[in-house]
Amino acid sequence: MKKQYDYLIIGSGLFGSVFAHEATKAGKKCLVIDKREHIGGNIYCENIEGINVHKYGPHIFHTNDKAIWDYVNQFVDFNNFIYSPMSFSKGKLYNLPFNMNTFYQLWGTKTPQEAKAKIDEQITTYGTKNPQNLEEQALSLVGKDIYHNLIKEYTEKQWGRKATELPAFIIKRLPVRFTFDNNYFNDTYQGIPIGGYNKLIEGLLEGIEVITNTDYFSDRKKFNSIANKVVYSGKIDEYFDYKLGLLEYRSLRFENEVLDTENFQGNAGINYNDASYGFTRIIEHKHFEFGKQKKTIITKEYPCEWNPSNEAFYPINDDKNQTLFEEYHKLSLKEENVIFGGRLSEYKYYDMHQVIAMALTRSKKELNND
Ligand code: FAD
Repeated sequence: MKKQYDYLIIGSGLFGSVFAHEATKAGKKCLVIDKREHIGGNIYCENIEGINVHKYGPHIFHTNDKAIWDYVNQFVDFNNFIYSPMSFSKGKLYNLPFNMNTFYQLWGTKTPQEAKAKIDEQITTYGTKNPQNLEEQALSLVGKDIYHNLIKEYTEKQWGRKATELPAFIIKRLPVRFTFDNNYFNDTYQGIPIGGYNKLIEGLLEGIEVITNTDYFSDRKKFNSIANKVVYSGKIDEYFDYKLGLLEYRSLRFENEVLDTENFQGNAGINYNDASYGFTRIIEHKHFEFGKQKKTIITKEYPCEWNPSNEAFYPINDDKNQTLFEEYHKLSLKEENVIFGGRLSEYKYYDMHQVIAMALTRSKKELNND
């Protein structure tokens, strides 16, 4: 029997919105639901004092894929913002990512040869052949000065554990750049949507039925009955009623302040390395869009333990959780008429361009097979 909708799409983040857009373009009837009070998932911006505040953490769009760049530019123009964060450590400011500016600030080295020699000397002195934990790994990759000034305490705050108790695999590489280049990303295309990320989501969902403040699990039976297929971008363990156990995450707490000043820190992002600051960074949102407002909004970001009542931000892809995820994934393959996708469904950290690419691939496969 033909149902009211072709697709019920759970989650109006980038995965759900791109899928909904593509399916609608192909002539399908979609209903998008989201349990939050707004659309957009984690890229949602709240406008405060005329400034787009990245409510779930700062988001910078970057990609090497021209097709993805062209895709998002259909819906909104992007500015030429380049993310060049700084790090505040022991009373001094350093440029990130680690580059010739950082090395000059640390050691006064002026040429790539001088900087390379300094790093090599530090690696030889402090590195180990077979790093057993994150501290040993970092010392073996960049030596003592970069590690102690710019990595150790920041990482310990981020994970809530001592670097010597963290596995080495968390830091696979620590790229160092021997140019005076503060651009955090290496990608060809980068920017922030002019007018904020909501424009991108509104563009994707234009003409599509959307209901917010609605949790799929509040009446799963009813929701399943109204559509031929379900597209699910929520947590995979929740979909299966946590029957195999809970997948773990790290969470974040954001503290916003409206300041009666035009420019608080002169940069969109400043990391705070020292343990004496409970937060890991301060974001000043207006700089993402070169704002000239009289006031400014800053957000202090505090990493915290995750529990089922706060937001699941970073999956903890250690062996235990990854094995559990694989079990849930196997179950998901048996679900008929359900398409899983997005960061929560795949229990993986994905950047925005990767989620868009995933949604385009899945929708293409689905719509071509139909
Ligand atoms: P989400 O955006 O999480 O959307 C899922 C949606 O599903 C949510 O709206 C949720 O409410 C809804 N939902 C879940 N369960 C249910 C249910 N039961 N019923 C109804 N609705 C439900 N990427 C970049 O490219 N650049 C960056 O600078 C960047 N910065 C980031 C900073 C932080 C702090 C974090 C955590 C991520 C960052 N990302 C960044 C990654 C980016 O946020 C993700 O790639 C993207 O938002 C994922 O989209 P999604 O649709 O998979 O998930």
